[in-house]
Amino acid sequence: MPTPPVVTTVQALQARADRERCAGRRIALVPTMGALHSGHLSLLDEARKQADCVWMSIFVNPTQFNDPKDFAGYPVDIERDLALAAQHGVDLVFCPSADELYPEGAKTWVEVEGLTDCLCGASRPGHFRGVTTVVAKLLLAARPHVAVFGQKDFQQCAVIRRMAADLGFGVEIVVAPTVREPDGLALSSRNVHLGPEARRQALALVRSLNAAEAAVARGETDRSALLAQVRAEIEAAPLARLDYAEFRDPDTLEPCPARLVGPSLLALAVEFLPDAQGRGATVRLIDNRVLAAGIPAE
Ligand code: AMP
Repeated sequence: MPTPPVVTTVQALQARADRERCAGRRIALVPTMGALHSGHLSLLDEARKQADCVWMSIFVNPTQFNDPKDFAGYPVDIERDLALAAQHGVDLVFCPSADELYPEGAKTWVEVEGLTDCLCGASRPGHFRGVTTVVAKLLLAARPHVAVFGQKDFQQCAVIRRMAADLGFGVEIVVAPTVREPDGLALSSRNVHLGPEARRQALALVRSLNAAEAAVARGETDRSALLAQVRAEIEAAPLARLDYAEFRDPDTLEPCPARLVGPSLLALAVEFLPDAQGRGATVRLIDNRVLAAGIPAE
């Protein structure tokens, strides 16, 4: 199967976007950092439902890594990614260099306030500034009608939606559900760095989300009780270090009240350490679920 054309410059992509728009075709963009897994592929399939042209970007964005080791160790396999893109009907792949997106002397940042102070924003200073800056650049280059993101990065979706509305990008932000391994672990490009023991223990995230969901379905609305249950589940995994477990409003990301009412985001971040034999790297995993608190099940 022939691989899709690769465009490497902003100017060439903008020219292509103008041609597609003039011809009345809708463009969907799926921004990724490559190392594609089924989660990314589900975004491509969603994009195909939304538009005539499915474009994917692959760019490991240096400015969103607050840990240089994480950036240096980020998995890269462009040939494999292009083959997968072909299988999923991608029409074009945008693979800019770092110099292309951050020309020498670049001084401009895009920053969303408030929504970025909490959760991953608190643990990873500068991360969201890097994300919003690069996504703004990608949207200006590809001029898509639709951009598709994954719910696994819930806060990222909320921040990008805010940025797109505030800056009038005129793009629809579509959020696709989290794709999981058969045992429930959310797919992530970083999962490959988990050692075998940490991989087993990483199921604590989805187990704690399931337990919280079940408790809420039984009528539990006490935020502290729910969080205590989540913490106990994570602490039972010896290689896990809880970064945060919080309930937040799904739109504003404001903290939820002590008694949950209505849709409530339960967001988790957990770091997994190498095991006693030194297998695996330190890997930070995130997961989330929106729970319908205090809303009787039909
Ligand atoms: P990344 O390459 O990690 O920057 O992710 C690119 C896009 O894929 C983002 O919109 C992520 O939210 C999305 N994504 C990552 N993991 C998953 C998953 N397990 N299910 C669905 N989407 C995902």
